[in-house]
Amino acid sequence: MRYEIFIDELECFGFHGVLEEEKRLGQKFIISSKLTVNSPEGVDEDDCDKTVNYAQVCDVIAAIAENEQYDLIETLADTIAKEILIRFSMVEKVSVHVDKPSAPIKRGVKNVGVEVERSWHVAYIGVGSNMGDSQGNINEAMKKLKESSFNREVVLSDLIKTKPYGGVEQDDFINGVCSMRTLLGPEELLRLLQQIEKELKRTREIHWGPRTIDLDILLFDNIVMEESDLTIPHPEMCKRDFVLKPLLELNPRLVNPLTHQYFADIFEELQGKDWYEKTV
Ligand code: AMP
Repeated sequence: MRYEIFIDELECFGFHGVLEEEKRLGQKFIISSKLTVNSPEGVDEDDCDKTVNYAQVCDVIAAIAENEQYDLIETLADTIAKEILIRFSMVEKVSVHVDKPSAPIKRGVKNVGVEVERSWHVAYIGVGSNMGDSQGNINEAMKKLKESSFNREVVLSDLIKTKPYGGVEQDDFINGVCSMRTLLGPEELLRLLQQIEKELKRTREIHWGPRTIDLDILLFDNIVMEESDLTIPHPEMCKRDFVLKPLLELNPRLVNPLTHQYFADIFEELQGKDWYEKTV
């Protein structure tokens, strides 16, 4: 059962703002939020454990608004939104509205406010390694993805050994796909993956050359996007059966949001074009 909970105009006293006086003297912030709740068991039993306790949500909001300090109310609203999603597992989506009625503006303004929306997304990440302890590198990358409080349900497919792609002389690759839920947006997730690649000392000297770890966003919800630094679905994924095989192991009914084809059908068409061998 899916429904919405509204918490309107919670008054908090906090120390957010760019100006020194704001940080020192503090002021009133009025915070409203809308939570989209998915209660798998429904509320027929009239049981408080089967829903989200809005008094606890208010405590979480007030603790952040009153004990933490941000220059921007955008950051305050976003921090609250993320924390609600992390702390209350039945909340799928949340919007947080922060008003700052005493904002230091010389003109007559009744109020300034911001609204931020966050939700859980489903992402599929392609993982590959062919330098050093490849399996160890992949395990380490998974550990780092799981350690981020912004991700949950991080699941890795079976790993397969594949011949290198792109004609560069190098060791075989170990490839797999990981599925997860994340409250990060696509660009934020890309930055997290690049950070993990950096921490695992990925080397990038040769295009399509050896790498300790390669993490690519394959799919992100049903998003289709093409920015200078990020293309989703990943433009190469449909050419690579060593990507589609582990992807389909995680979810055999996935559909390509760009072409609306089943990935299972695309995989069928690729059969025999690549070589791979399952590892332990
Ligand atoms: P690669 O060497 O294959 O990991 O490519 C890394 C570059 O591809 C980075 O500069 C990314 O900004 C860019 N890129 C574009 N689309 C994606 C994607 N879906 N996932 C990861 N990197 C991407």
